[in-house]
Amino acid sequence: MGELTPERRVRINRIKKILVRTNFTVLFVLLAACIGLLIKTMVLSERIDKANEELANAKKKLEEVSEVKPDDNEEDKEIETEDLSDVSVNPELVYEKIAYLTFDDGPSENTGNILDILDKYNVKATFFVNGKEGEVHEERYRQIVERGHSIGLHSYTHNFSQVYESIESFSQDTERIHTYIQTVTGVDTHLYRFPGGSSTTRTTHMQEYIDYIHSNGYEYFDWNVSSGDASSVSMSPEAIVENVMNGVTGKNRIIVLMHDSAAKDTTVEALPIIIENLFNEGYEILPIVETTTPVHHAVN
Ligand code: ZN
Repeated sequence: MGELTPERRVRINRIKKILVRTNFTVLFVLLAACIGLLIKTMVLSERIDKANEELANAKKKLEEVSEVKPDDNEEDKEIETEDLSDVSVNPELVYEKIAYLTFDDGPSENTGNILDILDKYNVKATFFVNGKEGEVHEERYRQIVERGHSIGLHSYTHNFSQVYESIESFSQDTERIHTYIQTVTGVDTHLYRFPGGSSTTRTTHMQEYIDYIHSNGYEYFDWNVSSGDASSVSMSPEAIVENVMNGVTGKNRIIVLMHDSAAKDTTVEALPIIIENLFNEGYEILPIVETTTPVHHAVN
């Protein structure tokens, strides 16, 4: 065992001092790092708390929204689709009393007036039209369609002797008005009303024309209530209303015959009263469509 020389002792002490200093430095650095981390952790945890709070709020809002809206929407949708599907299947199974308002011989100077009244009551009707040329009439056909009404055919010329001359002339006339309406409005209509109705005495060949109508994919619609507005130009609105309401009595499904004609202002005057009376009697007013059960007169 050798004695430590003073020189060595000094060296050892120096090394010790360096070691201690280094240790302190390392310790200090570590401590500083720890404090730094601690502070960072505190800041982060605060942020996390804040974020959690925000998330909770957002969730709450989302729950509130989803509790109220989607359910309601779904209910609305269900009701809507149910109603629509029922109506598209057959409204005649849904409503106890149905009235179909039909206007023959248009378009005319009164078409716009009739459409305005129908719009006012949010009622859709059916227009059995003739072939009338020119931009003004073309716009009237389009208005009928654009405003949601049914458009049907009532022959091109409405000239009895011409339309009912023969099966050839009848078929030519029918295809002519069909093509014309399709060209002007885009509607490929298969609703038909015979000039004078299928009970007209203007021809003895009605059954032939009926067969033509059916074998070419059309359906014809007569009426079981007449407004009588065709009988005289000077018929008063009161008389027209009375005719309709008398004809309605005891019937659950009515097809009302009226006219869209420049000369028939009183039909226009009677129309609001007819609509209100039909509503009061509990009728649903609907447009004729291809699935509507037709009214057919006895052929003469
Ligand atoms: Zn007519």
